[in-house]
Order: sequence, then structure tokens, then C-alpha cells
Amino acid sequence: EGAINRIAAGEVVERPASAVKELVENALDAGARRIEICFADGGKTLVRVTDDGCGIAPDDLPLALARHATSKIDGSDLLNIHTFGFRGEALPSLGAVGRLTIASRVPEFEATEISVNGGQVTAPKPTALNGGTIVTLRDLFFATPARLKFMRTDRAEAQAITDTVKRLAMAEPFVGFTLRDVSGGGEGRVTFRADAETGDLFDALHGRLARILGAEFAENALRIDASREGLHMTGYAALPTYSRGSAVAQYLFVNGRPVRDKMLYGALRAAYHDFLNRDRHPAAALFINCDPTLVDVNVHPAKSEVRFRDPGLARGLIVSGLRHALAEAGH
Ligand code: ADP
Ligand code: MG
Repeated sequence: EGAINRIAAGEVVERPASAVKELVENALDAGARRIEICFADGGKTLVRVTDDGCGIAPDDLPLALARHATSKIDGSDLLNIHTFGFRGEALPSLGAVGRLTIASRVPEFEATEISVNGGQVTAPKPTALNGGTIVTLRDLFFATPARLKFMRTDRAEAQAITDTVKRLAMAEPFVGFTLRDVSGGGEGRVTFRADAETGDLFDALHGRLARILGAEFAENALRIDASREGLHMTGYAALPTYSRGSAVAQYLFVNGRPVRDKMLYGALRAAYHDFLNRDRHPAAALFINCDPTLVDVNVHPAKSEVRFRDPGLARGLIVSGLRHALAEAGH
């Protein structure tokens, strides 16, 4: 049973950055306004996510660690997913592959902490915490040395964590994010920070993109706002003159989730086809939103592919929406 759990867990948790993604998504689902992520040694020895969200009641803590227990869906409605989580898999998976501690507090109860070590859950005990949740994951893959070998250098894993946090921060401009490398101990070093943005969604997103992609992107960014048959695209796309030598500045989201999807990247490329040489790549941060029944964003828990019910419609929206904005800007 334990071995099977650990194999399944490896599907969800490939590397420290996937743990960060799951934990930050849980914090966002909990309505957090501020999220702090700490990591050490590329996340291999420590990942800690602190949020000011709704917290978990003491009685629910053991449930949070039970496989397929989720507070986010009642089972009748598997396609209609509005929150990030729904599988109830992340925490049990992390508890199977590392040393996991969850400390949490809801206003009505004392703060409580629970730990799980290679699948063994401890009894809940009181702890000190004013509110929200702190999830600490130590020694990822300590019980599965074979998987440890697949981890890359601390530097590469830290880079993957940073990239993950930036993508999540882009999708949630009203939430404040701090990322800290605490490898040396103590307070550590802040490697990324984005304070909560204010204003309307476009203002907030513009501010957040300036923070993450830089002022030059923000100054060259066209506001995108287009719809087609129940599919909506908002965000910013840069003028062709602000293209890049690689595709690194392409950020795509479907229903708030960062995705890396060939079809969507292809549509972005196609929209700029007439304006860019082959070796130049458009820069954009685009958010596609639709009724959750029109898209499956959970094709694979750890990969970020999506499957639209009507892929042609999604492609058409991206190509025509971007071309329209480019034409209005004189292209
Ligand atoms: P899922 O997110 O798919 O529901 P998880 O294993 O990620 O599954 O989390 C299990 C449950 O634990 C969640 O449904 C939620 O009730 C609770 N939970 C996890 N993280 C947090 C958090 N940071 N704040 C509040 N509740 C949380
Ligand atoms: Mg989750």
C-alpha cells in the first residue's frame, strides 16, 4: 500500500516546484491575500508556504491528509471546477514523499499542527499561530532515493520554483507574494516579491506584469479583451517590436491556471506570423476564461496541458483577438 501510494505521489510531485505549485494553489483556494514561500537547497530540504487564508479546523486536519479527501467538490460535479484543487491528492502525496507538517488556525479554535512522515500521520497537537496556514515540507523524496537522483542542481530547482511562483503571481495580481531562499538559515534572501496590486483587473494585471516581466514589457503591451462564443481572452500582448529571441515571455492561463499547451502557443505564434521573423517570439500574458465544462485543464495532474471541447474556437479567439489588437495599434 505504501509503495503504491509513493508511486502515485510521484505523478503529482515531480520536483520541488510542483510541491510549491500545489501548496500555493491551496493557499489561493483558501482565499489568502498574502502568501510567503520559503525554500532551501532548491527546495530539496525545505519548502514552506505561509498564508493568511481561512485556515483548517482541528478536526479537519487529519482529513486534509487523507487520500481523495477534498473540501472543494461534492463528487456530483467533477467537470465544474472553479477552484484549483479538487482531487484531494496534493497533501497526501506530499506526505508520502517527504516530511510534511501543517499548522493552521481558524478563528474559533486553538492553532493545531499535524505531521506526516513517509506516510505515517501523527496525532494533532496545539501550536502557536495567529491565523492562516503554514505548510512545511522537508526532505522531499527522502523515502524514495531513486527519485532523488532525478532532481537537478539546487540552482535549476530554485529557478523552477521562481518560475512557478511568478506564473501563479501573474494570475493573482490582487494577492501579495514573497519568495525567500533560506538556504543559509535565518531570514534568508528575498528572491522575488510582488505586493498586492490595486485598482481594476486591467490596472492590477498591468502593474503585476511590470513587476514580473519588466517596465519595458508593460510599456509595449497592448491590452487584450476579446470574446467568442463563451470563450473570453484578456491580458496583455507586446508589440512585435518588443519580441524576444526565445519563447520565455509567453504566459498562458486557462481559467486561472498556468498552462503550457502546444496548441495555445501555436495560436499565439500564428497571430504574429506576419510581423515576426522565425527567430523572434511574441511576448504575452493571456488569460482565457470559459465555462469549466468547455475545457479540461486536468488532463494530467502534473503537466499543464488543456483540452478544449472546441480547439478551433480557442485557436480562432487567440489569433483573431491578437490580430485585431495589433491592427488597432497600426499593424
Ligand atoms: P485539494 O486541493 O484537491 O482539495 P489537497 O490535498 O491539496 O486537495 O488539500 C486537501 C484539503 O486540505 C483541501 O481541500 C482544503 O480543505 C485543505 N487545505 C489544504 N491547504 C489549505 C490551506 N492552505 N488553507 C486552508 N485549507 C487548506
Ligand atoms: Mg490542492
